[in-house]
This record gives sequence, C-alpha cells and structure tokens, in this order.
Amino acid sequence: MRKIKQVVPLGNLKVGGENPIWVEAMARNHPGDLQAFARELIEVQKAGCEIFRVAVPDQRAVEGLAEMKKKSNMPLVADIHFNLELGIKCIKLGVDAVRINPGTIGSLGKLDRLISFTQEKGSTIRLGANTGSIPKKFSEKERVSALFDSMEEMVNFLESKKFNRIILSAKSTEVEETIEIYRKLDQSFSYPLHLGLTEAGEGWEGVVKSSLAVGTLLREGIGDNIRISLTNDNPVQETQVAWSILRSLNLRKRGIEIISCPTCARKKGNVVSLVKALREFFSWFPTSTPLKIAVMGCEVNGPGEAREADLGVAFSPRGLVLFSQGEILKIVGPEEMFIELIKLIRDKEVEGGTEP
Ligand code: SF4
Repeated sequence: MRKIKQVVPLGNLKVGGENPIWVEAMARNHPGDLQAFARELIEVQKAGCEIFRVAVPDQRAVEGLAEMKKKSNMPLVADIHFNLELGIKCIKLGVDAVRINPGTIGSLGKLDRLISFTQEKGSTIRLGANTGSIPKKFSEKERVSALFDSMEEMVNFLESKKFNRIILSAKSTEVEETIEIYRKLDQSFSYPLHLGLTEAGEGWEGVVKSSLAVGTLLREGIGDNIRISLTNDNPVQETQVAWSILRSLNLRKRGIEIISCPTCARKKGNVVSLVKALREFFSWFPTSTPLKIAVMGCEVNGPGEAREADLGVAFSPRGLVLFSQGEILKIVGPEEMFIELIKLIRDKEVEGGTEP
C-alpha cells in the first residue's frame, strides 16, 4: 500500500499524494550547449522522463536552462550545488525547482534569499543529501544517522521560514543504507520522497543495485518519484530502467513492453535478435494502450507460457505464430510480422487500455 504524502507542485506536475510515481532523469549535457541539450531533452522525454534534473555550474547554464524552459513543459530541477546565487537566478527565470544538498550549502542563514524568491515564485525545493557529502558537523556519526540529522536540520529550517514545498531525498552508495535512510525519512516526514541510490555504477551492476534499493522501497509503499543513477553518457537508459522497475511492480504502465523466453534447445528461431528488433522498433512506438508483447522460441510451449501477454510471437517451422493471451491468431512470415503486430495493437487500442 502506497504511503500517502502531502502533495507538492513541481512545474505542471504534482508530486506525492496519490499522483503517479514520476520518473526523473539527469541531463548529461551542459545546458548552455543549447542544441545538444535540446536533443537530449527530447530523447529522454520520448523515453518516458517526466522530470529533468540539470546541473547548473555557471551563468551560461542558467541562460540555457531559461531558454529551454520557454520551449519545454517538462518540469526542470536546477542542481545548484553550493552556488545559491545561480539558484536564485534560475528561480527568477521560471525554473520549477532547485535541488539543494545539505552537505555543500554551508551555513543555513545563507538560504534566506533563495527561500524567499522560491516562495514568491511558487517553486519547489528538493533537499537532496547523499553519503558523499555529509556536513562536517555530523560526520562523526554513522552514515544513516548523519544523513538523517542533516535532512532534519534543513527541513526544520525551511519550516521555520514557513516554506513547505519540499521534496526529500537522501541517497547512499549502499543498498541497505539507502533502504534504511528512506524508511526513516518516511516515518518522520510527510513530504514526498524522491528515491535513488547514488553512484550506483555502470551497466548491469548499477541497474541491479538501484533496482534492489528502489524496488524494495517501492514495494513497501515508499517513494513518489524515482531516478536511477547510472554511469553513462545518455539519460535514456536510466529512464528505461526506472520504467522497467515501475512496470515490474505493476505501479505504472506505459507503451509496449517486450517480454521473452530465455530460449532452450526447443527454440525454432533466433529469439535474441527478434527481441532486439522488436524492442528497438517499439521503444518509440506511440500507443494509447500499454501492452505486453511476448517473444517465444517455440509454438508448442510459447503461447501457453506467455498467456499473460496481450500479444505474442512464437517461432515455428511454419513461420511466426502470432497469439493473444495464449490463443493462436495466425501464422505470418518475418516480412509481414511488424505490420500484423501493428494492426493487432491498433485493435487492442480500440478495445481500450488500462492506463493507471
Ligand atoms: S518457449 Fe520454447 S524455446 Fe522458449 S524456453 Fe520455452 S520451451 Fe524453450
């Protein structure tokens, strides 16, 4: 059961309450490199990103971000690190939120001007702590307590200024610590929680660590938006992984999901290359009805094994067997398969979907 938090606006979205668990990604490009930044934003939005966090290291980044704000309706979160003046500029120019790290901000009094501009503009503050930057005064404590205390101090300070459009995150590099700190935040505060594991790493190792931490918390009903931190040069993959986690837990549905059998000696064709081709083709495919398509290696076991799929393709000596919910519909050649699948998807759209 989802733990219901207070609702906090973030641009045109609302975070918390019973709103969807939003997918966030982080820009890799400098926002001042307008073309590259715009391309990245369009690609990541197509992949399903709903909130875009952007590092703002200098004035050029502020200007790029402001430019992008005019063109995109996706909520933008400016990560200002320790430069509060850059944060104030971003807020003045209409950026939806600033991310503040309690570990790099220094004395709390310095936040006064930023808080008052953020208040005035109706923008949001995400407090984002992580184990890599625990404030000195808490550094003697064990890491979970230190993170928690630094967050609590910041929350108390913002509340003392009557500021409550707050989203909280506190990330560790360790799965167990991340789970523990978020459980504490959940028990202690009513503000929505942005989940993630920091410095998860590259490739499947990063995916596994993030999935364990974020997945465990989501299963406990904790979390209102998620970001999967992966080391690579493109935020599309972290967006796809975030969606995979949400889909796997039946928390959200979106687009076409490809599932497939592991293959074995009974396979009658190249499952691996067909899965790759379908995944690539359908990753950008517009559909109003989220669907699951199964790719199975043989017609004898495949349709039955993938009975839960809305549609499926199974290899057979006679061609590709198309099926729906375990029932065989027709046999087609490889060249007709995409067209036939698209027709079947459109039929399902007419029948109506189950977008949560
Ligand atoms: S569907 Fe067929 S090929 Fe795939 S794992 Fe099952 S038995 Fe093997």
